[in-house]
Amino acid sequence: MNLLELNQVTVEFALRNGQPPLLALDGMDLSVRKGELVAMVGPSGCGKSTALNVLAGQLTPTKGEVRLAGEPVRGVLPSVGYISQADTLLPWRSVLDNVALAMELRGVPKAQRRETARALMEKMGLAGFEHSYPRELSGGMKKRAAIARVLAVDPQVLIMDEPFAPLDALTRQRLQDEILALWESTGSTILYVTHDLTEAITLADRVVLLSARPGRVVKEYPIDLPRPRRVMDVKFSPRFIELEQTIWADLHAQLCQAEGSL
Ligand code: ADP
Ligand code: MG
Repeated sequence: MNLLELNQVTVEFALRNGQPPLLALDGMDLSVRKGELVAMVGPSGCGKSTALNVLAGQLTPTKGEVRLAGEPVRGVLPSVGYISQADTLLPWRSVLDNVALAMELRGVPKAQRRETARALMEKMGLAGFEHSYPRELSGGMKKRAAIARVLAVDPQVLIMDEPFAPLDALTRQRLQDEILALWESTGSTILYVTHDLTEAITLADRVVLLSARPGRVVKEYPIDLPRPRRVMDVKFSPRFIELEQTIWADLHAQLCQAEGSL
């Protein structure tokens, strides 16, 4: 069953100074099945974040529709957990209170949200930092806290926008393994945006390639690497390298087109 669908979604942004509107997405179709981990790649500026904003209900498309579990949706969806590119922890709140924030907004009673937040922090390797402040955490720990905050409200779908891009390679690899373990143990549904093809192949069941702007899906690639996966086990396997070469050739063509239009 398709849990999430974009049907013929077009997004135009109005620009200032009488310029013609900017066409960011052009009739984009995308579906994510329940329990699937889909990674979306494409050139910078092709509309990846725009597509996620539409899916999260934060942006109404100019044309087309979004469906969650078959139902058309409008407005922000509480059942979609969105981890955006920005670091969104509130600096004046302790880490525990940051992790509890989404529950607080839903009216979960205090004792219960503290208990859930503590348990999730422990699971995400953040035990002992409950009373620290975001500035006292490393970049990787902040990302873990942001993920814990979203998981606390048990979303039906998790969408992540280049969550590990600013982190160093080793931290990124550890977090990729954590996402794999989390996904394998919970059977959750994840749509993951990254500009890093290696990361996309490592994580996904299916890689979706977007065209240069205006974005639409050019091609999809099933990733038949064995599960459970660990980054170091798959990264150098012949099948991985084969998949990377195939997708890279198509991605490169889109990158060239994107550069040509700058
Ligand atoms: P990506 O995430 O793939 O790098 P985005 O979805 O952020 O790309 O942006 C797609 C295109 O839409 C870009 O050309 C960007 O400049 C433009 N864009 C994004 N948001 C806005 C906005 N609010 N107003 C005008 N243009 C925007
Ligand atoms: Mg983006």
